[in-house]
Amino acid sequence: MTIDIEAFIATVAAEVKGYQVPVVDLIAVQTKDPFKVLVATILSARTKDEVTAQAARRLLAAAPDPPALARLSEAEIDRLIYPVGFHQAKAAYLARLPVALAAFGGTVPDDIDQLLTLPGVGRKTANLVRSVAFAKPAICVDTHVHRIMNLWGYVQTKTPLATEMALREWLPARHWLTINSLLVAFGQGKCKPVAPHCDTCPLETACPKLGVTPRKRPRITAGSGPEKTLLSWNVNGLRAVEKKGFVGLVQALAPDLFAIQETKALPGQLPESLLNIPGYHAFWHSAIRKGYSGVAIYAKREPIRVITGLGIEAFDQEGRVLTLEYEDFFLINAYFPNAQPGLPRIGFKLDFNRALHRFADQLAGAKSVVIGGDFNVAHRAIDLKNPQDNEENPGYSLPERQWMDEFLGAGYIDTFRQFHQGPGHYSWWSYRAQARERNVGWRIDYFCVDGKSRPRVREAGILSEIMGSDHCPVSLVFA
Ligand code: SF4
Repeated sequence: MTIDIEAFIATVAAEVKGYQVPVVDLIAVQTKDPFKVLVATILSARTKDEVTAQAARRLLAAAPDPPALARLSEAEIDRLIYPVGFHQAKAAYLARLPVALAAFGGTVPDDIDQLLTLPGVGRKTANLVRSVAFAKPAICVDTHVHRIMNLWGYVQTKTPLATEMALREWLPARHWLTINSLLVAFGQGKCKPVAPHCDTCPLETACPKLGVTPRKRPRITAGSGPEKTLLSWNVNGLRAVEKKGFVGLVQALAPDLFAIQETKALPGQLPESLLNIPGYHAFWHSAIRKGYSGVAIYAKREPIRVITGLGIEAFDQEGRVLTLEYEDFFLINAYFPNAQPGLPRIGFKLDFNRALHRFADQLAGAKSVVIGGDFNVAHRAIDLKNPQDNEENPGYSLPERQWMDEFLGAGYIDTFRQFHQGPGHYSWWSYRAQARERNVGWRIDYFCVDGKSRPRVREAGILSEIMGSDHCPVSLVFA
């Protein structure tokens, strides 16, 4: 706790003055109505502010108070609040809210324990409602507050709840009410979760930047377009991850391109909320076998061409490769096969790997190539926690590692290692033995680029704090 917190908060307050006000604060300023603040807060979880604002406007126009909300069916509420993250679950909570409020005379209580009895209200929401709607002492710790307080080194905590408890001890009470809106605005506009803009941050020299990979100062590179943020995530089932707030996460992270592996679904099996995420075009390549493999890409901008598969039936029927072509680069989204315990599929996997390498080489003759995906291999001992125990296992067997040597030896760049040389960075953890909590993991998800595109790579990272799958997303900022 070596930073001067007063100076940091004053600097952030001055910085965010011109920023958009977080939507929950805006509604509080506009209405001073605890019911409306509560509804907006419930809607805001895992959802972009613009989407929350529009959904809250629609719902509160139809239901400005608890009796009016009680007259709406759950399906009507769901229709009004779509596409906020977790919209079905939130509609169910809101449908039950009037009955729950009846225990408090039909009004929103200002006590944390009472707020926690309401449907859809967790600790973060309760704290936010208490502080914003009632101006009572509470510290609302969301992902931005938790993340920024840790990268400043003001707290050293693993969970938002632990951050809340630490801040209750150390943060002067005069900042409790405002810290959330300040750091949410700062986290959205400057100190972003992926590639924070340290180069233009007023705290740049004083900030310890613990665990941070700042964006690189933009350079003009001949033939390259503006910077793009790319994410890649093996979601281990798109329908499963949708129930954990995937749509809200896409909107919160707002990548330009989001490559998804293991969709485990045909587009016809997916809900509207996944087929049409506002602001994105979606492209699919599914396996013939239902519930198996499959890749997809969500893209803010329409590509000039979509290439499905590798043109080899044995691989394409498993829905493993999808490529988007833009004016100055290709994005190949690849889900590499798993060699399986005992390595019965190692031949199939190596054939796939070599076919993909040839495909990338062909495209790289024309323009830059970015390959993002689950490569299903930890390249070196540094890329997994227990290398000695896994030398015969799929994902770290010698032939798989040798192929990765061959691929990188041919000039492709493992972008993550351009920025992070140390151990302990993983993108996959077994569900067993609390592997993720103990960080006993493997780095098997990558963004690679062809050799000539190295100068266009601005930043690469791993978003290990994002839950929902046994993998976490990896990121690339590409000019
Ligand atoms: S210097 Fe970078 S890490 Fe530190 S607060 Fe500013 S943007 Fe965030």
